[in-house]
Amino acid sequence: MKILIVEDEPSLRELIERSLEKERYVVETASDLRSALDKVGCYDYDCILLDIMLPDGNGLQLLEELKTMRKRENVIILSAKDSIEDKVKGLDLGADDYLPKPFHLAELSARIKSVIRRRHHDGDMDIRIGNVRIVPEQFQVFVNESKMELNRKEYDILHYFCNRPGRLVQKSQLAEAVWGDHIDQVDNFDFIYAQVKNLRKKLKEAGATISLSAVYGLGYKLIVE
Ligand code: CA
Repeated sequence: MKILIVEDEPSLRELIERSLEKERYVVETASDLRSALDKVGCYDYDCILLDIMLPDGNGLQLLEELKTMRKRENVIILSAKDSIEDKVKGLDLGADDYLPKPFHLAELSARIKSVIRRRHHDGDMDIRIGNVRIVPEQFQVFVNESKMELNRKEYDILHYFCNRPGRLVQKSQLAEAVWGDHIDQVDNFDFIYAQVKNLRKKLKEAGATISLSAVYGLGYKLIVE
């Protein structure tokens, strides 16, 4: 799961970043509106934490831009002033939640989980697909209720695909989601091939009824047998 923090206050931005990294999110940051707009133009995020008062503009502009681009990222507004007007405007523009500052990191974490869950699984905690069950709270995967041993990247890859069953996922898309935005600088995606290969093998050995099917030259697709 990849999160973009849009926040100009360095100490708060770093505090949120460290706390979310501990929860195993891939975290990207932007300290002003311009760089935030550049990022959402190039990359996808599972959740965007959006400050309203930014040095070069109003964070609500980012919501307008997402709308124009027809992107459906989860957005949680983090606003210093507990303004009803910002809240109403933000929710009108498609924000999923609103958290006034100051807030507790535990509350932020709960809100992030909640918006992601709402979007992908109608509020269900576990993700069930075929005979596979993912428990995101514990980063665990079960096949027919026996636990699979996956390394962190294998888990992240499987989680990503299970949120997009049947959809073609390009290698670059997968790399950015699991390794981070900087990955678009690499020359080739062999490291993905290696992780996906191990994951496919483990799914097969565990008797999973789902598999990652390679779409030649493009990427992979999760299919349910
Ligand atoms: Ca600010």
